[in-house]
Amino acid sequence: MELLTIGAFSKACRLSPKALRLYDELELLRPARVDPDTGYRYYAVEQLERARLVAWLRRLGMPLASIRQVCALPPAAAAREIRAHWARVERETAVRRDLAAFLVDHLTAEPRKDTAMLELRSCAHSDIGRVRPANQDTAYAGTRLLAVADGCGPAGAPASSAAVEALKCLESEELPAGSVLNLLEDAVQGASQAVQDVAGGSEDIGTTLTALLWTGSRLALVHIGDSRAYLLRDGGLFLITHDHTVVQSMIDEGRLTPEEATAHPQRALLLKALGGGAPAAPDLKLHDALPGDRYLLCSDGLSGVVPDDRIARLLSAAPAPDTAVRTLIAEANTAGGPDNVSCVVADVVEAA
Ligand code: MN
Repeated sequence: MELLTIGAFSKACRLSPKALRLYDELELLRPARVDPDTGYRYYAVEQLERARLVAWLRRLGMPLASIRQVCALPPAAAAREIRAHWARVERETAVRRDLAAFLVDHLTAEPRKDTAMLELRSCAHSDIGRVRPANQDTAYAGTRLLAVADGCGPAGAPASSAAVEALKCLESEELPAGSVLNLLEDAVQGASQAVQDVAGGSEDIGTTLTALLWTGSRLALVHIGDSRAYLLRDGGLFLITHDHTVVQSMIDEGRLTPEEATAHPQRALLLKALGGGAPAAPDLKLHDALPGDRYLLCSDGLSGVVPDDRIARLLSAAPAPDTAVRTLIAEANTAGGPDNVSCVVADVVEAA
């Protein structure tokens, strides 16, 4: 076995001697031999490939604990782990990108050039469905606030209603230009506290929360959990939220296809929610509204049983928000109504 000094090995694999000593301590890359007298480390030429893989994975920003796992795997499985790691990075980056855009808007707050005065016409309804003994969803449409919350656990109904109640202060709060981000942050904080009060320390009790706040020309979106927001614009339906579910993260990471996900036994398992569990930050996003836009908020009682293309057709065909809400809920119930189903539909229209 040909042995290299730590200096020669370091040059060959582009990991510093300091890094190599750290990886030895972490048992990520042990030297082939340590001189018992001097303590000098020696590496085998055969270890170069692994050392280079570690160096590449470090450059990718992978945490050391994950690198140790990847290095222990055969190539195909290692490739899968790297793909999954990268999907998580991209997902986190997307959330931060939205927040950065929100912040830029917050700091510039230029008035929109277009002169058309816009208004929101909305309707909300929540239905128990055909199977559940109680309705734990809450749906709300006010003059400025639209919200859907899907409670779970023994106090799911009070949890979802407490979350939406806590946001209602946004209806009357003054909305000076550029302050929407902080206002939302405070309101969500209040909602989180209200749900925790309901949960009383029980980790089983919690709620999703997906809400839109109308600012007169824009819609600020706050989202946590697996309720959804869609935008219907120019005939196309766009999902503008990302489900915080275990199954969705498995899809993102390439471990599950969307088709497999629809039948997955744990598809309702949430990664994030408001409630008694660990505090979690919601996604925040800002949308420029255009006349003709139609927004839909719904609980998984709709999106779990009615496919997106069907939602798009029904949403496009309905003449007004109230008919859209009624039709969508009826469709979920026709599909078996296995869960509570809530819909909020809002049209952006030019003021009369
Ligand atoms: Mn539900």
